[in-house]
Amino acid sequence: MTKKKVIIVGSGVAGLASALRLNHAGYEVVVIEKHHQAGGRLNRIVKDGFTFDTGPSFFSMSYEFRSFFKECGLDLPFEAIALDPLYTVHLAGSDTPYHLYKDIQKLSKQFEAVEPDFEKKMNHYLSKSGKLFHDTFNPVIRNNFDNLFQYVQKLARVNLIHVPVLTRTFWEEICRHFDSKEAREIISLVGFFLGRTPFDTMGIYSLLSYTEFVHDGYYNVKGGMYEIVHSMVKILEQRGVQIQYNTEIVSHTSTTNQLTAVIDQHGNAHTADHFIINSDAAAFRGEVFGRKSYSKKKLDKMSWTMGYLTIYLGINIKLKDINHHNYYLGSNYEQYKSDVKNHDLKGEKPYYYVNVLSKNNPDCAPEGCESLFFVCPVPNLNDKPNWDDQNEIVDSLIRDFSERNGIDIFPSIISKTVYTPLDWKSQFNLYHGSGLSLSPSMFQIGVFRPKNFDEVYSNTFYAGASTVPGSGIPMALISAELVCKRVYAFDNA
Ligand SMILES: Cc1cc2nc3c(=O)[nH]c(=O)nc-3n(C[C@H](O)[C@H](O)[C@H](O)COP(=O)(O)OP(=O)(O)OC[C@H]3O[C@@H](n4cnc5c(N)ncnc54)[C@H](O)[C@@H]3O)c2cc1C
Repeated sequence: MTKKKVIIVGSGVAGLASALRLNHAGYEVVVIEKHHQAGGRLNRIVKDGFTFDTGPSFFSMSYEFRSFFKECGLDLPFEAIALDPLYTVHLAGSDTPYHLYKDIQKLSKQFEAVEPDFEKKMNHYLSKSGKLFHDTFNPVIRNNFDNLFQYVQKLARVNLIHVPVLTRTFWEEICRHFDSKEAREIISLVGFFLGRTPFDTMGIYSLLSYTEFVHDGYYNVKGGMYEIVHSMVKILEQRGVQIQYNTEIVSHTSTTNQLTAVIDQHGNAHTADHFIINSDAAAFRGEVFGRKSYSKKKLDKMSWTMGYLTIYLGINIKLKDINHHNYYLGSNYEQYKSDVKNHDLKGEKPYYYVNVLSKNNPDCAPEGCESLFFVCPVPNLNDKPNWDDQNEIVDSLIRDFSERNGIDIFPSIISKTVYTPLDWKSQFNLYHGSGLSLSPSMFQIGVFRPKNFDEVYSNTFYAGASTVPGSGIPMALISAELVCKRVYAFDNA
């Protein structure tokens, strides 16, 4: 019997994971990628002797990777390193950083002076967050929904005690448990990991606190996060899966209900039995398939996550007192509540992150040097289309980092690369350059998110952050599992 052929448009984590699953299930798979290397947002810059991860710097739910590779007949092909502390938080005006230990007693000692009964409050908060996780994750998140009825049926099985949290924001939920500014700001930080702020992210995502502190924590990868992609690509190549780089899909041909080919920027038609789109599931429907329900006007009306300004610096000194994962909070953290779009990007930053990859991976920087990666949430291109002021914003971040670490790093910079939302958009087709795709708001999750099957072409499916279940590396793996179930069901129908 001839193998059925699947074309996957995009080699992000969900694209690669779908490719591996389908190859293991006996399909002929071809991956078509716009960029010159695989990985999408999880990418790598190698420059001036330094190595930088471009996007994700740690991941949760390591068991998703283990079960994924096991189901493809493989052992975990990279070394995952559990983080403890999970990360370090530097508050404005304080020289004492908070280390986010998983051991709650150890964590609590740091809050003794500012938040009485922190340990009791934290344990209570985590037990509530854990219940939320266990009651919703497998029943709702790890599921394909064909229609609203199926979705409502699943939701109806969720324990009603969680209903009140649906009416609150993440920040409001945190404020019910903690009184001090320090505890509120630090414990709410995880609210940023969904691409918005704790002030406009739904309270149900407080389940993330359980995933970070209790459930499985966070993991790094030895050699850098890109080793995940590197190992997946190596396996795919060994198994004969072709990945075609520098090839962007811009058009298509079809019958009334089947996609027959995707067409690249040079006019070449790529034919297959099935297609999986790992590009943005909303924007691709609008821009490539020309769907009216995803016209530019409609796409612009959707709620998109913030953009990221990312800076990759190679410096020729060592920073002794800094950890691998660091968050810097400004005295204006709560400004995000009202003013996220208009806040002065050259002034004090409410929040930014600095990763020092070379701290635990000496090969990622020349001897005596350090490889630094800054992530600062900024308005996406819908709110800030012009980035002519990028140098001033970048300098203000480096200056703040220098002041807070008591060492001027400007004279030590020997390598510098900057990605504004314009670069994220042009390199990986991220709509509006938004870092984490569509916001996970009430009417953009579950059955309301762009579906992972096409409404018109029955042989076309979607995988990745902009379809179900959502953003983040573990979600990309689950998305691949869900889309492959769709392909198998289609073939067995
Ligand atoms: C700065 C930053 C930090 C992050 N940090 C973390 C973190 O610490 N932990 C975590 O879990 N997650 C993190 N994330 C989120 C995580 O990176 C994403 O959720 C995940 O990588 C998305 O994977 P994806 O499969 O949806 O594909 P994407 O990464 O979006 O890749 C899609 C691929 O499709 C290609 N493509 C698009 N359109 C076309 C086309 N028309 N033709 C051909 N190819 C096309 C693109 O070039 C790209 O390679 C971060 C994201 C960013 C931007």
